[in-house]
Amino acid sequence: MGTLTDDQATQVRNLLATLVKIPSVNENKHHGDRAEAERAVSDYVETYLRRIGMTVRRFPHAPGRDNIVAHWPEQTGNSTFAFQAHMDTVSVKNMSIDPFAAEVSDGKVWGRGTCDTKGALAAYLAALSIARERSLDFVDKVYFVATVAEETGCKGAESLVESGFKVDAIAVGEPTGCKVITAHKGTCWARLEAEGRSCHGSLPHLGHNAIYAMAKAMSFIQDDYISSLTEQVHRLLGSPTLSVGRIDGGVAANIVPAYCHADLDFRTLPGLQSQSVHDGFLKRLRQAVTDESYTLTNIHTQPGMDTPADDPWVVNLLHAASRHTGQAKPEGVNYYADSGPFHAAGMACILFGPGDIAQAHTAAEFLELDELYRATAIALDWLNLATTQSLVA
Ligand SMILES: [Zn+2]
Repeated sequence: MGTLTDDQATQVRNLLATLVKIPSVNENKHHGDRAEAERAVSDYVETYLRRIGMTVRRFPHAPGRDNIVAHWPEQTGNSTFAFQAHMDTVSVKNMSIDPFAAEVSDGKVWGRGTCDTKGALAAYLAALSIARERSLDFVDKVYFVATVAEETGCKGAESLVESGFKVDAIAVGEPTGCKVITAHKGTCWARLEAEGRSCHGSLPHLGHNAIYAMAKAMSFIQDDYISSLTEQVHRLLGSPTLSVGRIDGGVAANIVPAYCHADLDFRTLPGLQSQSVHDGFLKRLRQAVTDESYTLTNIHTQPGMDTPADDPWVVNLLHAASRHTGQAKPEGVNYYADSGPFHAAGMACILFGPGDIAQAHTAAEFLELDELYRATAIALDWLNLATTQSLVA
């Protein structure tokens, strides 16, 4: 089991600080994608990768926003595996610390992206650099991938997959507390719309109140639909969930409303088609409430992930990680990540990285230095294993 030398620890700590000091906030004033959000950090990452001898290719997602794919050109292995992390961060609005100072105190690095997910980006890059210094000769072809636009719906990973990128296996860097995660749920967001007929508020019997129609749908969701979700159970993820996040309808007190909508957040088990989730929900709602009219629109989905625990790649990483963390079995998480699109494209995916997801996106985001060092050491042990055996199934 390897631990980092003082020099290696300093190397990865400085790398994280540098990455945090380069803003890559992905949010414009309308809460959508920001133009060129990752340009400066992707330039830095490219320079770093070239310095350790990797060939770098850029895959444009949008102007000034390129996904990066790198590998060592002299490698010949048949199997391919990648370390990956996204380069964008969420907004810095309402932060209580300087988001870009990368201050170190209390054994922590503070700033936006320290935890989600520049910690993983730094740990993977440093591990590759240290492995290079040791001239490790890998059995597999090792890639490094950095994506854009993760925080607004994994769009960078989606376009990378669309442009034909594929490896056999990929480690997606997210704050898992250095745990090996092999499953997460998928997401389906949808807008439920209820139609009515408006009229003057003094003569409500002449109209049809869309808010009342939506109230019936809310009762169905609370009293019937949510409890039925416990019939499905995944070994690592438990049951799917549904939450209503927003509701909006009506114009004024004296107008019977003709329209009301509610925004729904389904968290699905991996392998389920979002279409069948929505169709099943609507069918049951219409059966339960026969005198109203409903539709689902604005559908946004993210696939789940479920990599078999006996996948040799999972077994290898667990072998490397368990000596540092004691973890005996792969685990699941509730959030989604770039792993969704990669998994859907047929790559074996694992989530792995330093830090606690509870710190991600917070007003005083930080990463424990010990976590950063541990993740780097595990990634390095993993690469060491790859000099004697394949990391890939
Ligand atoms: Zn993330």
